[in-house]
Amino acid sequence: MPPMSSLLDLHPISRRSLLGGLAATAALVTLHPFAARANGSQAHLRLMETTDIHVNVMPYDYYADKPNDTMGLARTASIIDQIRAEAGNSLLIDNGDLLQGNPMGDYMAYKKGMKAGDLHPVIKAMNVLGYDCGTLGNHEFNYGLDFMFNTLGGANFPIVCANLTKGALAADPKLDELHFKPYVILDKMIRDGSGAESPIKIGFIGFVPPQVMVWDAKNLEGSAQTRDIVETARAWVPRMKEEGADLVIALSHSGIDVHGQTERMENASLYLAGVEGIDAIFTGHQHLVFPGPKDFVDVPGADPVKGTLLGKPAVMAGFWGSHMGLIDLLLEKDGKSWKIVDFTCEARPISHRDENKKVVADVKDKPDVVAAVSAEHQATLDYVRTPVGKTSAPLYSYFALVADDPSVQIVSIAQTAYIKDMLKDGDLKDLPVLSAAAPFKVGGRGGADYFTDVPAGDIAIRNVADLYLYPNTIQAVAITGEQVKNWLEMSAGIFNQITPGAKDAALINPEFPSYNYDVIDGVTYQIDLTKPARYDKDGVVVHPESSRIVNLQFAGHPIDPGQRFVVATNNYRAGGGGKFPEIAGDKVVFVGPDTNRDIIVRYIVEQGTIDPQADGNWSFAPLADTTVTFETGPKARDYLAAIKGAKIEDAGDGADGFAKFRLTL
Ligand code: MN
Ligand code: MG
Repeated sequence: MPPMSSLLDLHPISRRSLLGGLAATAALVTLHPFAARANGSQAHLRLMETTDIHVNVMPYDYYADKPNDTMGLARTASIIDQIRAEAGNSLLIDNGDLLQGNPMGDYMAYKKGMKAGDLHPVIKAMNVLGYDCGTLGNHEFNYGLDFMFNTLGGANFPIVCANLTKGALAADPKLDELHFKPYVILDKMIRDGSGAESPIKIGFIGFVPPQVMVWDAKNLEGSAQTRDIVETARAWVPRMKEEGADLVIALSHSGIDVHGQTERMENASLYLAGVEGIDAIFTGHQHLVFPGPKDFVDVPGADPVKGTLLGKPAVMAGFWGSHMGLIDLLLEKDGKSWKIVDFTCEARPISHRDENKKVVADVKDKPDVVAAVSAEHQATLDYVRTPVGKTSAPLYSYFALVADDPSVQIVSIAQTAYIKDMLKDGDLKDLPVLSAAAPFKVGGRGGADYFTDVPAGDIAIRNVADLYLYPNTIQAVAITGEQVKNWLEMSAGIFNQITPGAKDAALINPEFPSYNYDVIDGVTYQIDLTKPARYDKDGVVVHPESSRIVNLQFAGHPIDPGQRFVVATNNYRAGGGGKFPEIAGDKVVFVGPDTNRDIIVRYIVEQGTIDPQADGNWSFAPLADTTVTFETGPKARDYLAAIKGAKIEDAGDGADGFAKFRLTL
């Protein structure tokens, strides 16, 4: 615990500026207008937020095994000094999701382990930076409660969470037995516009999404319970005021959902803003940016220009250290207490894209943060490059567009296992779980080497980036058998229409993106290439009478168009990405907190050895005397003999280093 009474940081430059030295330092630091404007009964207070760091201390993408300028607390940290300098008084807080989400987190949990007294790298980095308070995110529980307590125990700042109880909920939230302090009230000294210091009490209260009881049931069941965020706030905030808090700041690891308030809602920050006594809200969890031009535009109750929720100052600082969230308050002494008379909000990025969309770093690493984690950074590099499991079959994508494929199969195996586990106790437990997955690395503009190719044997974490290229998160939709069929009709648009009897006709339409070629696992089907595609690549019905998907079966019988299924997929597809027929947010029944990549890593770690043989659940419908050709990477030749259920032969070299193959239909 830090001393609870200390002088708020005032950077020397800022102090000089307040004394009239602004001209000398203006080139370096632009003082916030409130710092310059505050009169003798007023003070400028800057609150700085990081959120959803997910163990990303270094600006390094461990999956790709290369530097990345869009992320890393070591970068965000380097603007902290400047941001402090712009302010009269400042505090630094974190809004949760610290401990999980990249290979450094997995290394600490799966390989190194945390005993009481050990220091986790993300905590080391934060201790260097002098945080004043933090809260829990939903990912803090992913490696179990012991791991979490051992890790957070090293923080030299308080951590608050008001809605995580140890056991059953009490009749009154204030009687709940909690794992963490619900709130802290920091006794600080604040410097006013005249340079005089006076006391101020700043309260921080924290909230986690109640859904952790579902997402982390295996770690929390029997050890915890969660309470509705808004209900919890209504109970505790008046007590904070009674205890003399001049300001009450919500650390809400919860996003902004505007579809009406519901009980135990996940993204409750808008409604939290409506709780009397809360003065400002730090939000997070959704990995979006607020205020700003892109997210939460045209949302009732939210002002994305000024940065307000129901009129109160609020920010969301992106994710992985991409932004620093800033709430600047101009406070005025009102008798004995301080009140807010003006405010500004900002989410300040660490990088931008130039006119060619290339990422340009706006800041450099902060050396003391880099130094604090250098040993674990190196250990993580070693970790992602060394085996975590074994695969008994090679994982390659050379034939992913023409036959059922092991690189797509492993994604569906892991997704299906995850979603079945998540839904096993809920209303949907009796629905069959299918899984949709598409090949991501299949040549195209990436070139003839741009394929997944992991040999049988050891599998390392960096290989998982090969299996799942994008940092999508897991979601599931509930749809009918008819909608399953239409999903596949849309996918089948990647193939050109083939005339019966054709010889060496080109099979693939290069305009159709491979990441929209979803294979659905859990059903069996064939694709009739003689029919025109029902949908074009934008999901527009172009041949309503046509049906390329034939013999679609579930459990060995023709699919019932009215039967309901759950389909595991990702946030992109479930949210309407690719414009698949009727697949959009209204069908979503499960929004997971995990990336599909993490689900695959965890699956491999848990299984030890995986056996991702393609199960051959789809194929082309046979066509007499007809052959088609397609191009793929030349290394495909090594795996030709292993292809089951499709007659494929080498047809020589293609263009640009690709190899050509012939498929007899
Ligand atoms: Mn997060
Ligand atoms: Mg399959």
